[in-house]
Amino acid sequence: MPTTYDSPAAEKTRQNHEILHGFYPPLTLETPRRSPMRELISTLLSHRTTHHDEELAYDRMLEAYGDWEGVMAAPTADLAHAIRTTRWPDTQAPRIQEILRRIKAEHGEITLDFLMDWSTEKGLAWLMDMPGIGLKTASLVLLFNFHKPVLPVDTHVHRIAQRVGMIPPKASADKAHQLLLAQLPADALVLLNFHKHNYWHGQKICLFSKPDCPKCPLKGFCNYYREHYGPATHEALAATPKRWEEDWGKLPH
Ligand code: SF4
Repeated sequence: MPTTYDSPAAEKTRQNHEILHGFYPPLTLETPRRSPMRELISTLLSHRTTHHDEELAYDRMLEAYGDWEGVMAAPTADLAHAIRTTRWPDTQAPRIQEILRRIKAEHGEITLDFLMDWSTEKGLAWLMDMPGIGLKTASLVLLFNFHKPVLPVDTHVHRIAQRVGMIPPKASADKAHQLLLAQLPADALVLLNFHKHNYWHGQKICLFSKPDCPKCPLKGFCNYYREHYGPATHEALAATPKRWEEDWGKLPH
């Protein structure tokens, strides 16, 4: 039975994964990543900030203070100036220093490597106890760096899940995390690909203000598509590209 507009949410989620996994380049768990500390602090810096400005803030911070010990010891106002391209430098600077102090006090050195040996639940709880770290950032670090079976739900994953009907239209991002995880296998490779492919899809095709639905391979069961165009015709489905084409541009990081 093909997945349709009226299929159960879990069926739509599985179909989303299968189709986007064929549409976009697949990732492996070996795909090079940023270090765990970089992932944590960069994600904090990225809140409501472009990727370019987040990287600029990160590079300026490390250039100015050399390493995490230097960042931790820096005058907070100076650190805020170094990361001024982030959205809220005066809030983020003391948060970064508090996180570094707590890691050092609890583990003797500034590293997150201990998370590898911790359970997913313990790691999530520990990370989310840090100032400014929510479920999305904690999940990103645990999935990308330690291959724990969690699902970061960013604004793109959340929007697509709502539009397609993988979750109820008003479900929050934290609720989406719980619902989507229950619909997918507890497998880090699947979750990494699901997250990243939906992230790319949200950045390139299922845009916030103007989704490019004619190009989208999910149109055959996406509620938003049916509401705006009617059920996809045989012609519309046949004309849908089967994979991302390089001349459409580079995929985001
Ligand atoms: S059909 Fe349109 S709204 Fe639905 S997922 Fe695709 S681009 Fe987004």
